[in-house]
Amino acid sequence: MSDTCIFCRIVAGTIPARIVAQNEVALAFRDLNPQAPVHVLVVPRRHVDSLAAADDAAEVGAVMALAAEVARLDGLAESGYRVVTNVGGDGGQTVGHLHFHVLGGRSMTWPPG
Ligand code: 5GP
Ligand code: ZN
Repeated sequence: MSDTCIFCRIVAGTIPARIVAQNEVALAFRDLNPQAPVHVLVVPRRHVDSLAAADDAAEVGAVMALAAEVARLDGLAESGYRVVTNVGGDGGQTVGHLHFHVLGGRSMTWPPG
């Protein structure tokens, strides 16, 4: 837990978020600035800087399983959706706590902008 990390503070409940789902390892909440009708962030409860720093396959697996559950809960399972993680500067990562974006509810273009 890092006092200065926004997502650690959301996990700790010290700043509010619209929680969608959770399991023992991961938490899912709505993005503050949604880029699609459904835009949910799925994070490990433990602070991990990014996918590049991920060192626990079971933890990452639990995060991904929650991402799929979020898609089912938000009605995306049939229509489809995208799961993305940004790493570092060129990846466009702005929050230094591993997170997967679950995006859906519209057709996704590729490549992303
Ligand atoms: P990144 O650019 O690091 O892949 O994604 C960070 C995401 O976190 C952005 O989509 C941004 O809108 C979202 N975000 C930043 N601060 C907050 C916050 O305090 N609460 C929530 N719910 N989302 C946030
Ligand atoms: Zn953190």
